[in-house]
Amino acid sequence: GMNLLEGKTYVVMGVANQRSIAWGIARSLHSAGAKLIFTYATERMEKSVRDLAATLEGQESLVLPCDVTSDEDVASCFKAIKEAVGTIHGVAHCIAFANKEELKGEYLNTNREGFLLAQNISAYSLTAVAKEARTLMTEGGSIVTLTYLGGERAIKNYNVMGVAKASLEASVKYLASDLGKDGIRVNAISAGPIRTLSAKGVSDFNSILREIEERAPLRRATTTEEVGDTAVYLFSHLSRGVTGENIHVDSGYHVL
Ligand code: NAD
Repeated sequence: GMNLLEGKTYVVMGVANQRSIAWGIARSLHSAGAKLIFTYATERMEKSVRDLAATLEGQESLVLPCDVTSDEDVASCFKAIKEAVGTIHGVAHCIAFANKEELKGEYLNTNREGFLLAQNISAYSLTAVAKEARTLMTEGGSIVTLTYLGGERAIKNYNVMGVAKASLEASVKYLASDLGKDGIRVNAISAGPIRTLSAKGVSDFNSILREIEERAPLRRATTTEEVGDTAVYLFSHLSRGVTGENIHVDSGYHVL
């Protein structure tokens, strides 16, 4: 593709397997000439991420552990990145988690622990990451996170994750406000439903997917490539005037 991101380095957080949206973003960034660094949550994921990273031609990517529930992990991860490359130009935050039992039935049944877990991993982590990443974005930068329409509307079964996405979307605006003076932009991509490991946790995900294919303006499901290409835009100079924004890459479903 076009070499929009030539000479730039990005941290991609949240690749679990080849279906991950983070992996779609990684491939688009790689095609645009970017250098990539990957982080994974637990040792269980390490091999899968290393194997995928090794498939990117002409590039040996740094692969590091980073469990976002640990401040020390986030700090030591970005310290290692600083030692390896010095400067980064952006971060793709593609991380979320909620208990499966709370992704069905009534939101009302969410317990305190499940609520805080979803907020911790899916929302607060963006702020924790932004704080560490800021010090490495000495030439300005761009932070991109992933959200879903369930943060704006009550969508069946999305429940506690919808509340976490609302919190994530508000965080995008506050972080954009804080970091703009450093030339750092912060935006979200609101992706349509995509069949990933995380999506499996949402009860009756198939019917949500079918609804998009039948009713969304573009009459098709969202792909990780579509999200990846929008991420390239948000990381490149083409979007230099855009911050605090939430771009829907969902075949237009959100206008209905
Ligand atoms: P995925 O399961 O491939 O990715 C989720 C990632 O979060 C995994 O790599 C997992 O290891 C990571 N993660 C979980 N807990 C973590 C922790 N404590 N520390 C570090 N990483 C942790 O699924 P995905 O669908 O690609 O999800 C990526 C993002 O996209 C999520 O924020 C998700 O909510 C969002 N999103 C997904 C869809 C969809 O339909 N799949 C739609 C809109 C938004």
